[in-house]
Amino acid sequence: MGQRSGRQEGGKKLEVALSKTMEAEEVVQNNTEKDEEAKAKVEKLSSVFGVADLKNGAVGLYNIGLSCCLNSLLQVFLMNTCFTGILRRITVPPDDEQKRRNVPYQMLLLLEKMQCGKQNAVYPKALASCLSIHRVKLFVQHDAAQLFLTLWNLIKKQMKKPELVEELNDLYTICIQEHLACQKCSSETKRNSSMLTLPLSVLDSNSHMLKSLEDCLQCFFHPEELTDQNMCFCEQCGRKTPFLQSMKLVHLPQILTMHLKRFCFEKAAYIHKLSHYLPFPEDLDFSAVLTENQCQADDKEKAAWKYEIFAVVAHSGSTSFGHYCAYIRSLTECKWYCFNDSHVCQVSWDDVKCTYGHSKLHWGETAYLLIYMKKRPQ
Ligand SMILES: [Zn+2]
Repeated sequence: MGQRSGRQEGGKKLEVALSKTMEAEEVVQNNTEKDEEAKAKVEKLSSVFGVADLKNGAVGLYNIGLSCCLNSLLQVFLMNTCFTGILRRITVPPDDEQKRRNVPYQMLLLLEKMQCGKQNAVYPKALASCLSIHRVKLFVQHDAAQLFLTLWNLIKKQMKKPELVEELNDLYTICIQEHLACQKCSSETKRNSSMLTLPLSVLDSNSHMLKSLEDCLQCFFHPEELTDQNMCFCEQCGRKTPFLQSMKLVHLPQILTMHLKRFCFEKAAYIHKLSHYLPFPEDLDFSAVLTENQCQADDKEKAAWKYEIFAVVAHSGSTSFGHYCAYIRSLTECKWYCFNDSHVCQVSWDDVKCTYGHSKLHWGETAYLLIYMKKRPQ
């Protein structure tokens, strides 16, 4: 609960920040209109950015010091043609200082560098230093789920063009309705919220290991009884009463990111990793996984809940010493690649399945973020 409401609050702050940047953009536009030369320069740049997406295989990113997490996430963003389609339409910042500070612009430069050259790998240095301006620490081990949210929020905040922000939201945002029902009277409250990832527990409410991604989803949308110390205040009853809390799925986006909560904070003073076997499918139909009660959507919306896997961000090692890599299915070639920093190799779906995990292999690779893509309607 805390995590969700925290994210929502972040969303509000972001809206405020966004309106501020939009005001700033107006000022910038007025200035550039006077400066024909700068305008021409911008046009020249946007023609460079029109280069077609990745034709040949994939390009690695050098590790610049514990940057495997950042590298893996950048590959997931930049191999996604839905995302790069938006990225290519950003407004080029007017001066060098703003260029240096602009995350989407630096991502675009990196993408160009990856695609234009004949190198097997490139250095993401300029982007990394741009991120450090925005308080993303370098040379530290990040958590991929957290860094994904940080990156996404920075990209959205700095994209400026309202139509691109809207497209980015549409592309990634999951809509959920939270229901809270008093168990003593009939009162019920509903609240819509949006999320960027579905944070899925890999254990059930009795701390038993869940057996598949579908089970994790079932568990996430399973109603929870709030009793004893978790009781809520009911306005109708005028006192604290037991409540039934349930989540209903309203809308799923084109790119669906799920986060397997394999790092466990419970029952121990230290964080430990849950490495057990947890398979996830190549094709996933949400309307077949969830019950009628767990959805708040019409038939047309539900008919579009058919997904195929696009990428897996995998973690190996322990909580304190770990390494990330990304398995991504190239959308232009329909081939799987494993991006391990500067080292990129073609793999098969069977190789990707190695990230399902194994209870006895605590140092083995396990899927941490799962990114699915909506299938085109038949
Ligand atoms: Zn009540």
